[in-house]
Parts: sequence; C-alpha cells; structure tokens
Amino acid sequence: MLRLRGVYVSPAGFGALALLAAACAGPGPAPQPAAWPAGELVDLSHPYDAQTIFWPTAEPFRLEKVAEGVTPLGYYYAANNLSLAEHGGTHLDAPVHFAEGRWTTDQIPLDRLMGEAVVVDVAAKCDADPDYQVTVEDLERWEAEHGAMPPDAILLVRTGYGRRWPDAAAYLGTAERGPAAVPKLHFPGIHPDAARWLVANRSVKAVGIDTASLDYGQSTRYETHQVLYARNIPGLENLASLDRLPPRGAQVIALPMKIGGGSGGPVRVVAILPVRRAPSP
Ligand SMILES: [Zn+2]
Repeated sequence: MLRLRGVYVSPAGFGALALLAAACAGPGPAPQPAAWPAGELVDLSHPYDAQTIFWPTAEPFRLEKVAEGVTPLGYYYAANNLSLAEHGGTHLDAPVHFAEGRWTTDQIPLDRLMGEAVVVDVAAKCDADPDYQVTVEDLERWEAEHGAMPPDAILLVRTGYGRRWPDAAAYLGTAERGPAAVPKLHFPGIHPDAARWLVANRSVKAVGIDTASLDYGQSTRYETHQVLYARNIPGLENLASLDRLPPRGAQVIALPMKIGGGSGGPVRVVAILPVRRAPSP
C-alpha cells in the first residue's frame, strides 16, 4: 500500500477501480487509466561519475568499459563494470552500519523508505559555521513555524552544502584522501542531542542530510548515527536539491540498491512536490 498526499491506494484498489470503470464505460469515451499521483518530481540524488564525492578512506566510484559500439553482427551494444564503496555519493546508511543486529540494506521494509518529508533548513547557520550541528532548538523552531511533525515523517536537514557538490574541498572541508584527511573534515551535521530528542519525542522513518554524514565532519564517535540506527532509523547522506522542497508536504521515495547483508548502498531519492491548488474564486 502506498500513502501519498494522505490518500491510501493499494494495487488491488487500482484494479477494482479499473474494472468498475470498464463496467460503467458503455459506448462513451474509453476509461482513463488510474493516474499516478500528480506533483512535480524532484531528483534528490547526485550522479555517480568521476566527480562523485566519497569519504577520504572509501573506495571511489569506478566505471570500467566492457563494450561500446557496433558488434560484428551489426547491432549496437554497450556495457560496463562498476565498483564503489557502499558509503559514497547519494547513499543509504542501513541501521547495521552503526548498530549490531539492526536492519541490513535488504532488510529495511520498503514502507520505511517512503513518506512525507519534513525539511529543516539551517543553511544560513551553516554558511556562517562549517562545524554547525542541528540543535533541539532548530527542530522546535521548525514545529513552532510549521506545526508538529507528522508521524512517520522522513526528516531532511538542508545545510545548503548540496550546492557545493562536486567541489570536494568546499563540500568536505578537504579534498585530501586517506586516513590523515579525516581529522580535516569540516561540514555540518546533526547534534547527538537532537537525535536523542527525535527518538524520544517523535517518530521518524528515516533521517537525511545534504552533507557527507549525519554527524558533523569533526565527529569522532558518530553518536547521531549510533542513536538513530540503534532504533532502526536509516540515514540518507549526500542528498541533492533539498532547496526545491517545501518545509512539509512533499512525499519522498528513497530506494537503495538491494544489497544482501549490505550496510548501505547507492540510493535514488525522488520527491513528489505537493500540488498547489488554485485559490477558489
Ligand atoms: Zn553512509
């Protein structure tokens, strides 16, 4: 079952509607197929290519050409091999990434990866401070302005760093690679106290951010990861185009590569923007 803009639609429901429409159609115009929910689609994933940003110690994205061109039999054929770390580019963190025994990538129920987005915008603060961490006060201020977070929301934090992609130095604080680069990372994240507040007071399906990590670049214990993933709340990192989303009302679908036993993986994240209704006359 899919929940979109507060309307529950099941595949069986679509089928029954189609049958009913066919039965009632008579000689009139052909029945219209059930429409996919209206609303502009926004791609929240960065591409995987030679520019894709990875953690300094992670294996980058590699695409090896296997074939490209017209074969001896006269048809065109293209294929590649690819390799990459699970945690690079726009990717999912499965809860097991920082919590033993919690869901692996393939175990996360699909329902946990779809839902209404709550977008907390802290871009102005992050412009002023690359080590900014989202506070409990930021979350409470969002609720004061936009109302209580809907249950089972997907919380997305907009730091504005998505606009720096794919400039690794601007995005991560350093373009250096290897273990010695890790202490030089500077980018915003979510404070562990805000993560603790979320799991204690609200129900969120997943938490995402437009930086390389839910914890800020200077973190050494990755406590926000630990707090959320212990509750089986997956993470989404390196999100793109969060500036296209309203504070609430967009629907998000985040489907990762289904890696058996994976601790994460590449994810295509799509938002469906709410339809603006024309004011009634
Ligand atoms: Zn990750």
